[in-house]
Amino acid sequence: MGKNVMLKVSGEQLGSEEYNFDMAMAQQVCSVIEALVDADYNVAVVMGGGNIVRGKKLHKNGFTNQVIADEMGMLATVQNGLFLNEVLNQRGKVEGRLFSNIPVESVAERFSYQRAQKYMKDNRAVLIAGGLGKPGFTTDTGVVAQAFELHCDTVIKTTKVDGIYDRDPEFHKDAKRYERISFNDALANQEIQIMDRAALAFAADKAITLVICQPDPEVVLAVLKGDTKKGTIVS
Ligand code: UDP
Repeated sequence: MGKNVMLKVSGEQLGSEEYNFDMAMAQQVCSVIEALVDADYNVAVVMGGGNIVRGKKLHKNGFTNQVIADEMGMLATVQNGLFLNEVLNQRGKVEGRLFSNIPVESVAERFSYQRAQKYMKDNRAVLIAGGLGKPGFTTDTGVVAQAFELHCDTVIKTTKVDGIYDRDPEFHKDAKRYERISFNDALANQEIQIMDRAALAFAADKAITLVICQPDPEVVLAVLKGDTKKGTIVS
């Protein structure tokens, strides 16, 4: 029986604030999902919404009600879910099933543990929008909570860079990449912002391993098997 894995797709993996929905980027994410199913993993996916709106940023820009800002953020993740699920289904290799943790029944099924488990076992990809379904959280927290609920002992977070660095590699040429790092060390280094602290702490508490790498099917499969030449494992 295949292992359950969870993939976190940030909004920036699907587009930018300028150009929200990028077909080529969505195809790349789909190729990762297909490779995982092909390698006999049972796959669930949580989408972020940062390509459209982030609650915190909207709030910082002067929109005072953070709850409404977060509600807008959660709805952004539903749009990403509709987008990714449709691109995946059009490719015709792996069937996607979209769930939402906020009620939007006319566009996505309400999340159900039983149905999600069944779809995953049937080699369908379960896409989950709406984060945790509550304001005040991010989809990073959503993804680890959802991984726990769906018995996934690993969360794969694909990023622009090839793993976790001791400081931001975009600004520091001499930044060093970790091949493996403990949750304690990741939490202790304020420069590491791969996931928010609440998400890291929850993953540590539930012993959920994090795999950080670029959205390339071969790289994802290699790092999942423990080859850290092109990625970082947090455990
Ligand atoms: N959000 C929320 N509750 C959740 C998950 C997400 O309120 O459980 C809102 C929050 O405003 C967040 C936005 O949805 O900024 C989009 O999610 P996120 O920022 O995690 O997207 P990503 O950075 O992964 O693209």
